[in-house]
This record gives sequence, structure tokens and C-alpha cells, in this order.
Amino acid sequence: MDSEDRSQFDRTQLENSVPITVANGDGIGPEIMKATLRIIKAAGARLKIEEIQVGEEVYKRGISSGIEPSAWESLRRTRVFLKAPITTPEGGGYKSLNVTVRKTLGLYANVRPCQSYDPFIKTKHPGMDVVIVRENEEDLYGGIEHRQTEDVFQCLKLITRPGTERLIRYGFEYARRYRRHKVTCFTKDNIMKMTDGLFHKVFDEVAKEYPDIQSEHWIVDIGAAKLADRPEDFDVIVLPNLYGDILSDVAAQIAGSVGIAGSSNIGDSVAMFEAIHGSAPRRAGQNMANPSGLLLAAVQMLVHIGQGDVASRVHNAWLKTIEDGIHTYDIYNKDISMEKVGTSEFADAVIERIGMKPTVLKAVDYPSKLEPIKITLKIKNKAKKELVGIDVFIDWEGDPNELGRRLEKISGDDLKLVMITNRGTKVYPDGIPETFCVDHWRCRFQSRVNGNRVQYEDLISLQSRLVDSGLPAVKTEGLYTFDGKPGYSLGQGQ
Ligand code: NAD
Repeated sequence: MDSEDRSQFDRTQLENSVPITVANGDGIGPEIMKATLRIIKAAGARLKIEEIQVGEEVYKRGISSGIEPSAWESLRRTRVFLKAPITTPEGGGYKSLNVTVRKTLGLYANVRPCQSYDPFIKTKHPGMDVVIVRENEEDLYGGIEHRQTEDVFQCLKLITRPGTERLIRYGFEYARRYRRHKVTCFTKDNIMKMTDGLFHKVFDEVAKEYPDIQSEHWIVDIGAAKLADRPEDFDVIVLPNLYGDILSDVAAQIAGSVGIAGSSNIGDSVAMFEAIHGSAPRRAGQNMANPSGLLLAAVQMLVHIGQGDVASRVHNAWLKTIEDGIHTYDIYNKDISMEKVGTSEFADAVIERIGMKPTVLKAVDYPSKLEPIKITLKIKNKAKKELVGIDVFIDWEGDPNELGRRLEKISGDDLKLVMITNRGTKVYPDGIPETFCVDHWRCRFQSRVNGNRVQYEDLISLQSRLVDSGLPAVKTEGLYTFDGKPGYSLGQGQ
């Protein structure tokens, strides 16, 4: 190519380039990002990179979110974010940047493929190929926590119908697109009948619309045990945020290493791509870290932005490198590997293999243009909601029967004290002395006429009688029915 052709080529490349936002992160972040960008550029990725700073540096400047306003502008402009891991400083006051970015940009589905590369990376599970689709915004990650008494701290677990529906629809659409045959749901709805129960119910409702895909549900504890023992029985797994956070690390580790799994965080209009591991500060600056997790996340990004041809070139070159036994320390095994290399030498080895395909491992072939999966919510429920009582939480130390007697006296003409629980277990009436109690009592008041509506005014006057009697509420929860069905759980033992 002469210089005129070259500059014409460069101009065309630039015009076809897709703007993306990149953050180099902390710890091993800058090294693995450098290696990743070097590889994908060598494979022909057409990118216009906007760099932003997030993480430790920003936290240390006193910005507790770890991200500056100008960075949001870039993310909202490019709508594609390739992010290296960041360090969340220890101690209180700092919010996790990852959670902030996911929630602020509505990145509701966290997709984590966990695959083994037997016989080239040591694994207990040859043939493992599981995709974990984790709900990414709700559950216990709302960060809504309170201390209410000397003894008691609480965290609010929120599961919503639309949040669950779009995650589960995404799981099924993903399965259909990538020709996967089964979607499994994990919950703990034998215990959390309302929150996890909703997740399971929505799963069953959505599954009916995908008769071509098998569906099944497991209680998360036995499901997790099965996943660790026989991952080959699973294909796509959809699950609430906390279980997904834990189980995707377990799945990546038993596949071979947390260092080789990438993830995408998908929203309606923005997507973020990152390794699943953290910033591994102890390995930072030593040219040791495995860049594969971030590189495979970048492969997912290239597919997302319609550069499937480049994604295939990168992924196949990576598979060939792994197959040739060129391994970083975390996956190096003297019986399997040919050479132990550092981060930048690993990147060189992948670049040398661009254009090659693996011979034993299965080569990939991504479509060159792929429309992003778009989700439309369909489940519409409008139930009749009626107020039928109140749970009042009281900070008090003493005997439940005494508390019960005092509350009976002030419950009034319209309301009656139905029960008192401590840590969810019924202790009044008819409690037993063996039940261990702390200083946080949930006292349930309902209408004296069973199932009848109560008036807000009655609840307000109850609260003022509680204050007068020296038993003020530290928190209250309204009790509602929806189309006549209780929207609250019973006490344990009620
Ligand atoms: P970590 O994943 O950073 O590291 C745990 C261990 O895994 C490391 O000591 C190392 O032995 C190994 N490891 C991880 N990535 C590797 C790689 N690419 N190559 C080779 N070995 C690798 O977990 P941690 O030590 O619990 O967390 C460190 C920091 O990372 C914390 O501040 C945490 O908040 C943060 N973190 C960030 C993200 C993110 O940005 N998405 C995710 C998890 C943790």
C-alpha cells in the first residue's frame, strides 16, 4: 500500500469505527487492558476509544461513587463500556462502582459463560459449558441497609416483577439465539416464598412461551451442589443477583480459573464488558496476570457492536494459544503447558496466532452482524390492593408476654394484636421460653373483624398510643391484600 492508499485506508477505518468507552481500572487492570486492546486492534477491531478514569484514584479524590460526572457523559454517548477491574477501597463510605454503573445504566442482565478447555487447562469438569445469566440490579444489592436497635441490622431484599421478567426473558432469548437447549432457574422459594417465589413464578410463566427450550427449577442449595458436581447437566442458568454473584465465581473456578471468564452486563441501550475477577492488587505491576477474562469480555463486546468477524479472529487465536500450551501462571501446569509466560508475552502469542484456528478445541464463528437482543415486557397485573393491617417493629428488651400484655391494652377498638415475632419466629401468644430473642419485636396488628380493611387514621392513632406508652416504632410495614390474597408472610410457627 502506498502512502495515499494507506491514508485512504486509515480514513475508511476511522469512519467505520465504533466509539467505545474504556477504563483501565486498578491493580492488574492497566496491564490486562493494554494486552487486550493490543490483541483486538491487531485483529482489526474498528474502535474509537474514549478513555475515562474510574476507581481508586477517583475515590481518593473524595468522590465516594468512584466515578466523575464527565465519565457518565462518555458512557451515555458511546453506550459501550470495556472496563478493567477496579479496587474498592476498604472501610466504610465507598459505594461499589460496579454496582453503581450497573444500576444507574440499567444493565439488568449479567451474562457469564463458564467453559472448560480440557485437556489444555486443568479442570475437574471436561465438557463444562454453562452460561450464567444473573439478575444484576435488584435483590440484596439495593444497598438499602439500616441499623434499627442495639442488636439488629437489616438489608432489604427487593425482587420486582418487571426486573425479574426482563432478566428471565433475556435468558430464554439468549438460549434461543445461541442454540442452547435448556434454561434452569435457581431460587430459595421454599423459604422466601414471596420474593424468590415471584422469581420462580415469573420463570414458569415466561418458560411457557418457549416450548422449544427445556426449563427446570432447582432450590439454589441443591442446585449449587449439582452445578459443582455435574456442571455438564446445565446449559443456561437464570438466577437472582446474590446467588448469581456467588455461583458464577464457583462455576468459573471449577471450569478452570476465575482468570479466564469474561462477562457482559446488558441493558436496553448500554452494555458493559468486564472480566469476572477483581483487580488482584498483589499481582499488580508484575506482568503476571492472565488477560484472558478481559479479552473474552472484549470478544463479547465485538459481537455486540457488530464486529463478529473480528470477535471470531480474536477468540480462535486465543483458543489456539491455549491449545499450544502458552499459559500464564494461574493456568500453568507442568504436565500440560509448554511455556509459562507473562501478560504481555501472552498477548504477543495470541497476536502471532491471529488468522489461525484451534485444532482440538472447537473453533468459534460469530455472525458478522448481530442485532442486540431486545426485551419487551408482557406480563401485566393490576390487582386490587387493600390495607388490612400493620407490622410495627419495636425496640424493647424484656419478656414477650409482658410486651404482649402492654400492647393488647393499647391496641384500640378497631385493631387487635395478632402476634409478636422475634427474628421472624412467633413468641406471642403461646411462645415458648426456649426461643432466643433479641431487642427487635415485630408486632402485627389487624382489624378486629377478620380480613377487614383498616383505615390509615386507625394506624396513625395506634402509632401515637405507642409513643405515649414508651414503645415507639422503629419501623413499620403496611399489610396489604392483592385481589384478596395476603401480600405478607406469616410468622414462623403462626
Ligand atoms: P480478585 O479476583 O481480584 O483476586 C483473587 C485472586 O485471584 C488473586 O489474588 C489472584 O491470585 C487470582 N486472580 C484474579 N484475577 C487474576 C488474573 N487475571 N490472572 C491471574 N490471577 C488472577 O479478588 P479479591 O482479591 O477479592 O479482590 C481484589 C479487589 O478487586 C477488591 O478491591 C475488590 O473489591 C475488587 N473487585 C473488583 C471487581 C470488578 O471490578 N469487577 C470484581 C471483584 C472484585
